[in-house]
Formats: sequence, structure tokens, C-alpha cells
Amino acid sequence: MRVLNFSAGPAALPLPVLEQVQAELSDWQGGGMSVMEISHRSKAFIRVAEEAEQELRALLAIPANYKVLFLQGGASGQFAAIPMNLAAADATVDYINTGNWSKKAIGEAKNHCVRVNVAADAGGAYTDVPPESAWQRSEGAAYLHYTPNETIGGVAFPFIPQTGGVPLVADFSSSILSEPLDVSRFGLIYAGAQKNIGPSGLVVVIVRDDLLDRARKTTPSIWNYKQMAAEGSMSNTPPTFGWYMAGLVFKWVRETGGLAAMAERNRRKAAMLYEAIDGSGFYRNPVAKPCRSIMNVPFTLAKPELDKAFLSEAQKAGLVNLEGHRSVGGMRASIYNAMPPEGVATLVSFMREFERKNG
Ligand code: PMP
Repeated sequence: MRVLNFSAGPAALPLPVLEQVQAELSDWQGGGMSVMEISHRSKAFIRVAEEAEQELRALLAIPANYKVLFLQGGASGQFAAIPMNLAAADATVDYINTGNWSKKAIGEAKNHCVRVNVAADAGGAYTDVPPESAWQRSEGAAYLHYTPNETIGGVAFPFIPQTGGVPLVADFSSSILSEPLDVSRFGLIYAGAQKNIGPSGLVVVIVRDDLLDRARKTTPSIWNYKQMAAEGSMSNTPPTFGWYMAGLVFKWVRETGGLAAMAERNRRKAAMLYEAIDGSGFYRNPVAKPCRSIMNVPFTLAKPELDKAFLSEAQKAGLVNLEGHRSVGGMRASIYNAMPPEGVATLVSFMREFERKNG
């Protein structure tokens, strides 16, 4: 029996995709082998890879002057790859700190750049996005990095930063494909796959052509954007199974109505959950309303001593992985694309009933 899985990642995947994978697992396209067992250089796999890229390009309306790369090393690998590809060691780079993941990106950048300027810091509690007017950006920065959706704190940017000529770099790991996006506003977008794209092991990078010539000589080949773009992301063996599944997820998003429909569905889901939280005296979400994530909804109980009971009763009701991140405690419901609205409605009913019994 399938449960309602609120995991932050690796996260729930669309059931029709899993069923297709299951149906064709041992004999993919009549070849008598699984897709995992064929060469990444075979015509059949190259077609899988190209189709996945085309689907993603269509979904996000990615302009022709951007490359799409399917890499390894997760989003954390990109924390290092970005400075190595886009900034000289003595360049200044700007970062906005709105949560644990921005902080990690900043920490890694410090290993690769002498001057890492934190232009704005939501500091400590992470419940807000500092207004752009207050940012202390540096003159001539190589890029500005931010995290549009902080997976742990549930903090999302309600705007896309205006950086003029400075390339804007964004970690969309936990919000890619949740709504339409104007890719042309960015120099580089990256996202680990394990939330809205597919299984873990893959990170998607969308990078503007004019940024491909800046890599340091010491940049590892597998993370060198120019080299990977020239070699179709296959300088070495890519994670073929994840790539194939990503293609199926992209197709599922298109068949579900594309990003506009996904956004409407996601906003409806999030509204249901935040209304339930705000309308109760028992649950609480600390994030400033304009900055609330539609993908990750953390909440606490008025009686933290009931956390364990909440989690175990939820589990019995088929609602799993609601425990908050170890660094913040409480609960967190991650409601990515694959979580249907009925799943969120079931969670809301459970929460109301739990409050009625224990509140
Ligand atoms: N950035 C964000 C916003 C994330 O949510 C995560 C993982 N949850 C990461 C980066 C790190 O991703 P990975 O584990 O793929 O390195």
C-alpha cells in the first residue's frame, strides 16, 4: 500500500511514473534489458537523454542561449562548482543568507574564493527574506547567489532579485518545476533531482552561454560546465537511470498540465495547510507570510511533548516523514509536485482531529 510521503527529499515521486518504470524495468523498449543495463553511448540512451532535455526546455521555456547539464555530486557539489566555474580565486562573490542551505553554499564558496560577501543575512531564526533595498552588494561581483526556497526553514523569496549585469545564480533544488519561471533572469540555475525531478544522484544545471568561458584551470572536468556542455554531460558515465526517470517525470508534469497548472495546484495545497495552521491555536508556522514556501511547510505543536505522539499517530494513519529537520525540530510537511491535493487534505483532517483530542 502506498503511503502519503511528506519527505523533504528524496521525496515522493508520481505514481504513474513509478508504474511505468516498474512495467518496463526488466525489458525496456523490447530490448530484453533494463535501461540501467545499456551503454550511455548507445543510440537508445542518447535518445532518452535528449528527450529529457527537450521536455525540460519546453516546460521552463529555456531560451536557446542556455545549456542544460545533467551532472553528479548533488546540489552540494554545485556549491563548489559554481565558484570554480564562474569566479577567479581573487574575485568577489555575493551571497544572500536565508537559511541552512544558503549558509552551506557560503561555507563552500569560502573554500574557493578569498572574498565572499554576504550581502544580506536573515540570521539565526531564518523566518524572513531581507528586503532587496537593504542588501550590501559589492562592486563588480562575479555573481550573486541565493536560495529561492529554503527546504529546512520553509522560507521562499517572493521576488527574483534585480542584479543588473551581475549574473544571478540560484539554488532551485526544492522548488524547481513548482511554478513557471523566467529563466532569462538568471545566469545559472541548479537543482538536485531528489524533490521535483526524480531519484537522487543527479543535479540539473541550466547555465547561460556567456558564462561558459570563466572556469578556472583547476576545475574538475566532471564539473566544468563548458566541457560538460560540449560532451552532452557525458565526459564520464552519467547516472543513466536517474536521467531516464527525470525524463519521465518531466513528461508527467507536461501531461498534468505543465507548470501553470502545477503552480495552481501547489498554491491550493499550500493554502490549505497554512490556513489550517493559522486557524488553529495549536499549530504554528513562524515564517513571515509573504515569504512562506509552497513546497516545505514547517510547523510546531503548542505542546512539544506531544511531538512523538503526533508522529506515531500520523504514521498509523499512513502519513509519513513529517518530522522536522534535526536542526529545527517540530514538524515539516514537504508537499512537492507529486503530493496530490487530496494528500494535503488528508493531512489537514488528521491535524484537526489530533488538535481536537489533544489541544
Ligand atoms: N540546496 C537545497 C535547497 C536543498 O534542499 C538541498 C538538499 N535537501 C541541497 C542544496 C543539498 O542537496 P544534495 O544533497 O543533492 O547535495
